Amino acid sequence: AGSFPCLNLCWVSCMCLTLQVEETLKPFMLSMKKLREISSRFTKEMDNGLDKKKHQKAAVKMLPTFVRAKPDGSERGDFLALDLGGTNFRVLHIRVEDKKILKVDSQICAIPQEIMQGTGHELFDHLAKCLGEFLESQKLKEQKLPLGFTFSFPCEQTEIDKSILIRWTKGFSCSGVEGKDVVQLLKDAIHKRGDYDISSVVMVNDTVATMMSCNQQEHEDPDCEIGMIIGTGTNACYMEDMKNVKRCEETEGQMCINTEWGGFGDKSPLSDPGALDDILTDFDKEVDETSINPGVHIFEKMISGMYLGEIVRLVLVELTNNNLLFEGKVTVRLDTKHTFETKHMSFIEGARVDQEVIDTIQDLLKVRCSEDDARVVSLVCDTISSRSAHLCAAALAAIANRIRLNKAKDNLKTAVGVDGTVYKKHPNFRHKLEDAVAFLAPECDLKFYISEDGSGKGAWVSGVHFCKSLGACAC
Ligand code: BGC
Ligand code: MG
Repeated sequence: AGSFPCLNLCWVSCMCLTLQVEETLKPFMLSMKKLREISSRFTKEMDNGLDKKKHQKAAVKMLPTFVRAKPDGSERGDFLALDLGGTNFRVLHIRVEDKKILKVDSQICAIPQEIMQGTGHELFDHLAKCLGEFLESQKLKEQKLPLGFTFSFPCEQTEIDKSILIRWTKGFSCSGVEGKDVVQLLKDAIHKRGDYDISSVVMVNDTVATMMSCNQQEHEDPDCEIGMIIGTGTNACYMEDMKNVKRCEETEGQMCINTEWGGFGDKSPLSDPGALDDILTDFDKEVDETSINPGVHIFEKMISGMYLGEIVRLVLVELTNNNLLFEGKVTVRLDTKHTFETKHMSFIEGARVDQEVIDTIQDLLKVRCSEDDARVVSLVCDTISSRSAHLCAAALAAIANRIRLNKAKDNLKTAVGVDGTVYKKHPNFRHKLEDAVAFLAPECDLKFYISEDGSGKGAWVSGVHFCKSLGACAC
């Protein structure tokens, strides 16, 4: 035994350590073959969601948005916009002129946790109050402006201004709102105050607003047919041919469909076992079970900013318990939910492992972190964000291919409007996503455009355009 020099022994134990870490991370590494399979499962779920008979039981909801066409540049006027459902609640004053959307002014209002998880009345009173204060500061209280409401939750829309909340997602769980028309709840809260009024209201999902505003931006691709968000939550919308929207009577023209892809993988009478059960890790199951909405939005919980940091934390706990990290000591901080956030992943993955990274980890988790430990943490972050990007790519590839087949083209060239902190702030997320889409949908040439303030501005483009293209459409 004495014949092995110490250096070799260290090397061998290092290798073993790496192998054990890899063993834990393996279930997160999805092969391209697996991703292709997931992409075709998603296609099947989209068909279920569009189907006349099956749609009510579908995991992927494929919701009609009543936005019938992309903007053509003739939209104009002064509008208010509300944006609820991302990191912040925002109120904006927008002016549309000469094919440009100008933000006259805007204000951010915090939504305290008590309100996010309080009653619906408290929430809508709070929104109406923020809007009132903004109008006051802008001296707009006497005007009765039209309002675009970007409401980023799954809603069954029956008209552009009638929108029933199917369920809350992300951190929201206000009582008495699910199953109700959120536009009406907002109007009621405004009328109850009585100090200002609004004219018409248009409600859109943030993906729709993002797609619409991407069409309004100046770039060489006039056609943006997909909107995608990878932020606190995740979702995508796209322009679908009415003839494929079997749940609506009409067969002419197009409509933007809000896929609500976050629900992919949820168990439903049509998908049991869930479509992602074979790739769910124990860590994913724990994130789901300890969330405020267990069992729903399984895909979202593997992808979006609200959950990625928490998956990483759970993996770090497991590695520490197995003596592979932090001297085997699970500290109270490391063991506490949400102490490690997605923004910390972005920081760690964007940096070289140096003293600053080590200090950050020590500070956050109150652990003793060696340089090797920091490398392991960085590898865990990279693995989890890669899986997120690859899963998004699988669903996006399915949507792109669908658009290509609708047009009966061998090759499709189109653009995707994107927003969300994960896509915008994570150092290499977008490259991982774009590379994987190119691989999974080689016949589709997608250009990605970050939407500038899309959630806010896009609402009204959708609204004005909707009003012009208003036609009979029973869904
Ligand atoms: C919601 C979607 C929304 C997405 C991104 C999801 O949780 O269900 O409606 O588009 O988050 O904000
Ligand atoms: Mg947003």
